[in-house]
Amino acid sequence: MPETTLSRTLRSASELAEAGLVAPAEVAALEAVASRYAIAVTPAVAALIETKDDPIGLQYVPDAAELVTLSDELDDPTADAPFTPVKGIVRRYPDRALLKPLLACPVYCRFCFRREVVGPDGGLLTEAELREAIAWLAATPEVREVILTGGDPLMLSPRRLAWLVGELSRIPHVEIIRVHTRVPVADPERVTEALAAALETDRALYLCVHANHAREFSDKAAGALRRLAGKAALLGQSVLLRGVNDSAAALEDLFRAMLRHRVKPYYLHQLDKAPGTARFRVEPAEGLRLVAALRGRLSGLGQPSYVVETAGGGGKVPVAWVA
Ligand SMILES: *Cc1c(COP(=O)(O)O)cnc(C)c1O
Ligand code: SF4
Repeated sequence: MPETTLSRTLRSASELAEAGLVAPAEVAALEAVASRYAIAVTPAVAALIETKDDPIGLQYVPDAAELVTLSDELDDPTADAPFTPVKGIVRRYPDRALLKPLLACPVYCRFCFRREVVGPDGGLLTEAELREAIAWLAATPEVREVILTGGDPLMLSPRRLAWLVGELSRIPHVEIIRVHTRVPVADPERVTEALAAALETDRALYLCVHANHAREFSDKAAGALRRLAGKAALLGQSVLLRGVNDSAAALEDLFRAMLRHRVKPYYLHQLDKAPGTARFRVEPAEGLRLVAALRGRLSGLGQPSYVVETAGGGGKVPVAWVA
């Protein structure tokens, strides 16, 4: 637990130790983790961590277990690579495509399904690559929805983001722009008026906020969500995670927190089997019991679809179909 309020993001095991988030004896083992999977804990997130094993600490503080890969874990669990027609685009469905303008995130989640590719120094499309991806979208009229993801698109500067949203808004067949982001809860100070203004568009804009625990909805996050609610319809996406939200009470609190902040829970994801994430697994049968327990105790507005990514890039389906 940090003794004083941090002013900058923690990015190494020794910085985590200095802030009191990990023991000095763990630093060497965690530097080995950090050499493979990026670390970032923002001041806003550090302020919410009481211990590294609490529901916030578990999500962001690295653990030596991350270097153990189980036989059923995959580097690219959602199989993005075979569905990439041009750099930065993933198209698995006729009517919608992902555009990944960069692979940096405000924080690096220890359970991330793209953990083999996300990081602070990777994946920023060059201007030429971004123009090529936009040209592909413009030349593919079946695509009616563009989903900005990454990495985290709200890591772009307001100027670049406004340019990108403007370019997408000029494509006649793009009816919906969707932005997937962890910034509102993980780095709420980044959501300035200028960033919110960069999202201005005449298209339907949906902003899908990734959060996994009610405590992530801090006062600062509430301010960020208020600024964004004026620009976009807000949706919530969460991952079912052992030790973070694996009880009916924790899920109920999470979805109630979303609804209070005008965020409609959209998806609860079964954890993808990315390398070194076994400590977060909740089996589908248990997940189905938890989701069933929410029926009747929480408004229909607060009931997301519980979905799993099917093997080999088959897309997301309700867990109930396959469990
Ligand atoms: C998750 C995903 C989408 C969006 O799916 P929805 O069910 O519409 O939210 C689109 N394309 C790819 C490649 C995806 O992984
Ligand atoms: S913000 Fe999303 S993409 Fe980035 S590390 Fe977390 S889960 Fe992965």
